[in-house]
Amino acid sequence: MSTLEIRDLHVSVATDDPAAPRKEILRGVDLTVRSGETHAIMGPNGSGKSTLSYAIAGHPKYEVTSGTITLDGEDVLAMTVDERARAGLFLAMQYPVEVPGVSMTNFLRTAATATRGEAPKLRLWVKEVKSAMADLDIDAAFGERSVNEGFSGGEKKRHEILQLSLLKPKIAILDETDSGLDVDALRIVSEGVNRYKADNDGGVLLITHYTRILQHITPDHVHVFSGGRIVESGGAELADELEKNGYVRFTDADKAEA
Ligand code: ADP
Ligand code: MG
Ligand code: MG
Repeated sequence: MSTLEIRDLHVSVATDDPAAPRKEILRGVDLTVRSGETHAIMGPNGSGKSTLSYAIAGHPKYEVTSGTITLDGEDVLAMTVDERARAGLFLAMQYPVEVPGVSMTNFLRTAATATRGEAPKLRLWVKEVKSAMADLDIDAAFGERSVNEGFSGGEKKRHEILQLSLLKPKIAILDETDSGLDVDALRIVSEGVNRYKADNDGGVLLITHYTRILQHITPDHVHVFSGGRIVESGGAELADELEKNGYVRFTDADKAEA
């Protein structure tokens, strides 16, 4: 049983102009994600959803100016990026990076070694990867390709879910995992997330602009993000309301306050 706890989180981002003041993006985020729970974070573009995931992951551009993030009571903000992964946090990036010259299989083994604390035995590892790839309808030849190089949008997303199923984190943060997926890829990726949840009692923070992925992955809690914080929380029915009415009611309230 694990708990990711975010308390009154404020995050600023360094702008390209070094003389300019830092821009505050997150303005007091409170969120608790436990094992076995799925939380959807929804909100308009630019509301700070990705900033939240970068801050949890420890991206150097995003500075936590106040507030806390803990995983099972341990101070996540004091950990390096690697330590966060080892502690059981996983971030699937909105825009995954390319790693030329490193095959998928090797990349995944290195990642697994880092999180498990020892290198998985090669023969077992190859088996494990093959089986996980088959679950995700990924071609075997894919394992020999360089990480993300020339991958289509859908292939990148499947790769992220492949990582998720092999690394078995305690809490997974999935940022716009649904963007750019066709109907079949969306189903396969969603099934991968659901398998991860079921097999590991994993906690999921699912960040998405659109409600369609929530038809495949049922959230226990839905939070609306606007202006750098959670402005409303509810159950799956809140996503249905957003599907009908969009974010207007939240963005208007935000403008009125600003
Ligand atoms: P979302 O994921 O909800 O679309 P983001 O977290 O990407 O929102 O962005 C929130 C706000 O922070 C936006 O106004 C965006 O322009 C700004 N922002 C995010 N990252 C950076 C950055 N690296 N440099 C400058 N501004 C940024
Ligand atoms: Mg954005
Ligand atoms: Mg984003």
